[in-house]
Amino acid sequence: MRTVVIGAGIAGLVCADALARRGEDVEIYEATSRAGGRIETASVADCGVEVGANFLSSTYRVLPRLAKRLGVPLRPIRSRAGIITDSAVKAYKPSGPAMVRAGVVGWRDAARAGWALAGQARRLVRADPADPAQWADIDVPAAPWCAERFGRAFTDAVIGSAFRGYYFQDLATTSASAALAMVAYGARPFTTLTADPGLEAVPRALASGLTIHYDSPVARLERGARGAALVLADGTSVEADRVVLAVPGPRAAALLDDPSPVEAELIATPYSPGLLVVVALSRRLADHELGGAYGLLASPGRSGDLAALCASSRAGHAAPGRDAVTVMFDGEAAGECIKRGTSDEELVGRAVESLCALAPSLEAAVDQASSRVVRIPAAMPTCRVGRASLVRRYRGEQSGPVVLAGDYLAFPWSDSAALTGLWAANRVRLAAERG
Ligand SMILES: Cc1cc2nc3c(=O)[nH]c(=O)nc-3n(C[C@H](O)[C@H](O)[C@H](O)COP(=O)(O)OP(=O)(O)OC[C@H]3O[C@@H](n4cnc5c(N)ncnc54)[C@H](O)[C@@H]3O)c2cc1C
Repeated sequence: MRTVVIGAGIAGLVCADALARRGEDVEIYEATSRAGGRIETASVADCGVEVGANFLSSTYRVLPRLAKRLGVPLRPIRSRAGIITDSAVKAYKPSGPAMVRAGVVGWRDAARAGWALAGQARRLVRADPADPAQWADIDVPAAPWCAERFGRAFTDAVIGSAFRGYYFQDLATTSASAALAMVAYGARPFTTLTADPGLEAVPRALASGLTIHYDSPVARLERGARGAALVLADGTSVEADRVVLAVPGPRAAALLDDPSPVEAELIATPYSPGLLVVVALSRRLADHELGGAYGLLASPGRSGDLAALCASSRAGHAAPGRDAVTVMFDGEAAGECIKRGTSDEELVGRAVESLCALAPSLEAAVDQASSRVVRIPAAMPTCRVGRASLVRRYRGEQSGPVVLAGDYLAFPWSDSAALTGLWAANRVRLAAERG
């Protein structure tokens, strides 16, 4: 049986790898000249900078194991974490007590949240935080659900900041399924992981063992009763028994003719936009600057249009005597700037202003000319109420030669996107066994 995967992001790569390891005939068609999709390491001022996924967690279940098998060492980032409140940085070693000592939440609020988490212990241990279908029974609005259990202060300061900073979206429009799944990663001891020279090492290693047709954008996907055919942008037609469509939702919507109602709803998942400005610096950050933290999340409503910051040197990726700080805009500001076509110059200026408000000593070190703007119109799938249930329904209903994968069937983190690839590979294998 011949399988074709569309898209060499982590979902498509993981799917093709799982099939190839079982000896299946599988090939990937990828629109660009590289593998990894939204796991991408760029070079700015000679520093390694993540312009897609920034880090993995040791509590992820798919990618750390995969990296180990591929011989890609994952290394802990030992720097502190931090929250920006009222334009001040509160940095701490990533742990509950340290967060309280840093004043991010009070002891009473932390105790209440800890008690509520203990009440969810069974679920937090058993359910896979990468699999929306396993959290579909709490597919209800996150803000009231979390506030009732964890208290308003913890919900706003910790969960709300994480959704804004990590996923560029607002907890007010998020499902409790995604909020609790995210909390599950932090409910046990974890470390933040990176790879060298950057996270892209993981998809690159995966890609090296697979057959990938680069620079081959698929223009159309046609399905018949016994198979499917893709039509490439140059008009070539490629036939297969099974096609795994592992591209972001808006791309999938453009390719898939005549989707079923559940497919149509899934591929219409709205995405939050991403706008990153990588500010180049002519020197290393001093230990005290930005609280010594690798990553900083901005509290909702208190930090202008800033969502998060990330420092290259603190992941061990800066060039000697240089540094780069990535300034991430929140979803609303990013959407507006992308829509209006705000110039690079203006965006760099805004990012530098936000950065220097937190660390005025950096002003003299900013190298505007080497700074870089990255616009990602569809950065992460929004975790609206109903999507976890929809994913569960799709799993139950999927049939025929086209199998969907990719992050619109996932929560907005890479381990979850990777899991959709494993699920799709399994579905293809079952179809092959049934003949
Ligand atoms: C700014 C940012 C920060 C993030 N931070 C983190 C983080 O810190 N930790 C974390 O775990 N996750 C993070 N994520 C999420 C993570 O990057 C994604 O969940 C994951 O990379 C999605 O993988 P995917 O395979 O579903 O999609 P993609 O990576 O987008 O892959 C899809 C592939 O399909 C290709 N393609 C598209 N259209 C076509 C076509 N017509 N024909 C052929 N190929 C096509 C694309 O070129 C691409 O290679 C972040 C994402 C962003 C954007």
